[in-house]
Amino acid sequence: MRVDIAGAGIIGLSIAWRLAQAGYDVTVRDAGKVAGQSSWAGAGMLTPAGEFREESRWTQLAIASLAEYGAFVEELTLMTGQEIDYRVCGTLELAMNDEERAALDRPRPEGIYMEEVTVAGARYFAPIPLTGVRAARWFPNEAQVDPRHVCAALVTACRALGVEIRENEPVRECAGPTVVASGAWASQIAGLEGAPRAFPVKGHLLGYHCKKESMPPIVRHGHHYALQRDNGFTIFGSDAQPDVWDATPEAERVAALAEAASALLPRLLQRPPDEVWAGLRPWSDAREPVVEKMEGRDTWLAYGHYRNGILLAPVTARLITESIVASLGKD
Ligand SMILES: Cc1cc2nc3c(=O)[nH]c(=O)nc-3n(C[C@H](O)[C@H](O)[C@H](O)COP(=O)(O)OP(=O)(O)OC[C@H]3O[C@@H](n4cnc5c(N)ncnc54)[C@H](O)[C@@H]3O)c2cc1C
Repeated sequence: MRVDIAGAGIIGLSIAWRLAQAGYDVTVRDAGKVAGQSSWAGAGMLTPAGEFREESRWTQLAIASLAEYGAFVEELTLMTGQEIDYRVCGTLELAMNDEERAALDRPRPEGIYMEEVTVAGARYFAPIPLTGVRAARWFPNEAQVDPRHVCAALVTACRALGVEIRENEPVRECAGPTVVASGAWASQIAGLEGAPRAFPVKGHLLGYHCKKESMPPIVRHGHHYALQRDNGFTIFGSDAQPDVWDATPEAERVAALAEAASALLPRLLQRPPDEVWAGLRPWSDAREPVVEKMEGRDTWLAYGHYRNGILLAPVTARLITESIVASLGKD
């Protein structure tokens, strides 16, 4: 049985892989390059604690997706022989004043595992400043992954199972069983009346070449964070501009982020970044990921993952595949 997918970001590719494994004949079309948008730009933190503060269905799905990630990466690596930079590195969350300290202490959703650390103890994990840090919490289960590695492996895994992937071929409407996984652009496909409106939230990232293992965990403070790839490349982010469609980096925003980077990690990032880039996070009026079947139609929606599409790819692929199998059956 045939299924079309609009969008070859991490969401569309993960769904394509799982559907092909379930025996479907899958074609993925992208308006531009495969994994050339948000999934190329994403930092790759897998951090439900910092991102999901309230109890909700998606909080639990984010925790589940983090738990599934190791197996997801291992399966992809085994199938493709391609290396994926994935590490359970833990996250250190910092508070610099009383208000932030109170926020750190707020009860966390069920399933978030947190340890208290002293500020001196936190310095054992990461090169945080000697002054200014008032409190720290340690989330040992959290992880990071290089999204570009995941997407490259997904392309190989999909092609090995016969998935057809076509670039520069925008989907304009849904004809036959279709999954809409076109991120910030999802609402541009005709005939999705009633579905939540998708829009972009632009975000900048800075990259610094640093010594390998000079900052093992993820460090978060408010909306800012830093994480280090296995080779030492250190990423600092980010900011948020809703409804901005141009992904070109803006000098003023880069300068503001660079200042925040040198304040948070002076020993590591007190210098101009080596690389800067920006991307368009897919958000929607639903204010949570839109992962569902449209009523009365063979159209599935899989967009609006905002700041967590890399984290939520395994669970989204599972939910959509289960829904398609339940609805269309297998050949
Ligand atoms: C700065 C930044 C930092 C981030 N950090 C993290 C992080 O640390 N952790 C995390 O989990 N997430 C992070 N994210 C979010 C994450 O990158 C996204 O949620 C995720 O990549 C969304 O994947 P997607 O496949 O839905 O969208 P995309 O990767 O944007 O893919 C959508 C695709 O659809 C294509 N398309 C558009 N219109 C059409 C059409 N009509 N027909 C066919 N194809 C079409 C586009 O060309 C694109 O390739 C970050 C994002 C940004 C920008």
